[in-house]
Amino acid sequence: MDGRRTDRLRAFTGGPILTMDPSLARAEVVVIDEGRIAAVGERELLGAYPDVIIEDLAGRTLLPGFIDAHNHLSIAALHPIWADLSQVATPDELRAALLEQARREPDAHWVRGANWNEVTTGLLPDRHELDALGLDRPVIVAHWTLHQCVVSSQGLDELHIGRHTPDPPGGVIARGADGAPSGLLIERAWSAAHAQSMAAHRDPNRWAELFAARMRQLLRDGITCVHDAACGQAAEGVYRAMRAAGALPISVLMMPHAEAILMEPRLDGPVTGDGDEWLRVGPVKLFADGGIAPAMDVSIAGQRSAFGIAFPRLAESMVSAVERGFRVAVHAVGNVGLRNTLEAFARAAHVRPDDDHRFRVEHACLAAPAQIVEMAALGAIGVVQPGFVHHIGQSVEAVPWDEEIWLPFGELARARIPLAASSDDPCAFYEPLRTASHGATRRTGSGNIFRAEQALSYQDWLRAYTAGAAYAGGQEHERGTLSPGKRADLVILDGQLDPHSPPRVAQTWVAGQLVYGA
Ligand SMILES: [Zn+2]
Repeated sequence: MDGRRTDRLRAFTGGPILTMDPSLARAEVVVIDEGRIAAVGERELLGAYPDVIIEDLAGRTLLPGFIDAHNHLSIAALHPIWADLSQVATPDELRAALLEQARREPDAHWVRGANWNEVTTGLLPDRHELDALGLDRPVIVAHWTLHQCVVSSQGLDELHIGRHTPDPPGGVIARGADGAPSGLLIERAWSAAHAQSMAAHRDPNRWAELFAARMRQLLRDGITCVHDAACGQAAEGVYRAMRAAGALPISVLMMPHAEAILMEPRLDGPVTGDGDEWLRVGPVKLFADGGIAPAMDVSIAGQRSAFGIAFPRLAESMVSAVERGFRVAVHAVGNVGLRNTLEAFARAAHVRPDDDHRFRVEHACLAAPAQIVEMAALGAIGVVQPGFVHHIGQSVEAVPWDEEIWLPFGELARARIPLAASSDDPCAFYEPLRTASHGATRRTGSGNIFRAEQALSYQDWLRAYTAGAAYAGGQEHERGTLSPGKRADLVILDGQLDPHSPPRVAQTWVAGQLVYGA
């Protein structure tokens, strides 16, 4: 009689259902109504819904939509309009790619190439090579890690970097034999070059279109929510405009960026938790150490050595964010970065002792066993990237590390540290079913198995991509499990949950609507 009623009321049944809710472990049916989960349970409950449309799983697996808890969507969205340098290996190829970029984006003040990778291509440009392009605009070659770059002489001028400019705290301005900057800018020295060269491309309307395009791409891989792990004010503005227009294809948790806080009065703006199911403010993103230069103090074959860049003022920045009611998330790759992070957490915990701080360590790539115990005692969450086994695993597997453990996912789990899974897109591949496979097999890019005892099961990774990531985002009341009242963001997988031959996404549903069907 009421056609609209039956249209919005659907029951998924006929295949395995991973609710990720321990109290609903043996579900046979999930009923959704008006974009929400209405009922979960055994087949008999269908008797209460005579008009329901049956969605036959036909043996496929139903689970909550994936939440990528560390994804730089606002940057990744721009990558299609920058020259892709990932395969560029010679100066001639670089020249051709950048000249083509200048032609393609005539109105952008900076000419930007992305995904430079000197390790796989051997390409090591300097400013003279970029100057020789003869362009009347500054040029930047951004590294795939988004932690260093090479800029042209005009670029250095516009950044006010000269022979006598000192290295910024937490950064390095590389110099040639003559003492003049070579063009290579590392870590904090790269930040301004990154921000200025991005600004050249981010007309708000065009940026919103690029955001939406990237989000639709993520839907094909079952991602229905991302935590944007370093969100400047301009990106926040674009997300808010999209939300106001009802134009967000997926949900976003915006993690305000530390640099934005230093430069702009962001700390006086909306705090963590503000927003709705489509768009919320997440924890403030801080940095303990470098990405290309993580701060480490390690023992290798009995020899102790320390290297990398640890950033100053971490605890101070954290305390001022926590004082205002923000939660915090800290990028810590190396074990020194992790040590400084845990010390800062211990300090910040006293600022508002009654708060649920839910401290996040982003990456936690290298840790000593004692640090993992300490992390557990602070109640900290590990926001980890199983896909890193592919490339980080490949670069560290041959080194005889004595004590510290790389990508210690098993150790973190055994210490009962809550784990959230993520990609770090665009700094690594993002497809959850693929990253989870590396986290479960521990297979690196070279084909070797790296520290098999640190593997988690494929299903554990799917839990970390759903319930685990929701908890890290303070979103467990609205998403992450198939429980009554939660948002009907769903994924249907075709194939066995076998990390050696991963399943594929058959359908993605957002707020009760089918948005992707293979
Ligand atoms: Zn990141």
